[in-house]
Amino acid sequence: MSLKKKFLEKKIECPRCYVPLKRKEVDVFGPNVFIDLCPKCHGLWLDRGELEKLVKDKKLSDYLTKDLGTQSKSKLVCPRCGGLMDIESADEVEVDVCLTCHGVWLDRGELDELKRKSKDGFKGDDMEKAVERWEEYAKKSRKSFFKRLMG
Ligand SMILES: [Zn+2]
Ligand SMILES: [Zn+2]
Repeated sequence: MSLKKKFLEKKIECPRCYVPLKRKEVDVFGPNVFIDLCPKCHGLWLDRGELEKLVKDKKLSDYLTKDLGTQSKSKLVCPRCGGLMDIESADEVEVDVCLTCHGVWLDRGELDELKRKSKDGFKGDDMEKAVERWEEYAKKSRKSFFKRLMG
């Protein structure tokens, strides 16, 4: 079994209620997607790339899972990799996104809200994204500055 497959097949727990999530196969265009559902709070875990397949909107899913900045405003811990998570929002819909593996935690009903947003032609807030891109850039250049200093 490949490492990646092992990583994805590991049993994971709900970041809110700590019960094991249940795998569920979802029919989409192309290879089916396996999502992880919480039987208690009906939240839902999506690994990197799965949001795009479910919502069928690259712009919206990129908006939520790319250029995340460096702050972690979410109190949740990523169920997949244990990394810090940040809150990203599409207007009033706020989702938790892992800064490390870029998986997404959706609370009950949020997937439908995102689908509705996509249908309404979600555009996103370029200003907000520019700020987060800048944070990432600043962090990277700080790192290389220290590298130069040390090396
Ligand atoms: Zn739960
Ligand atoms: Zn993660």
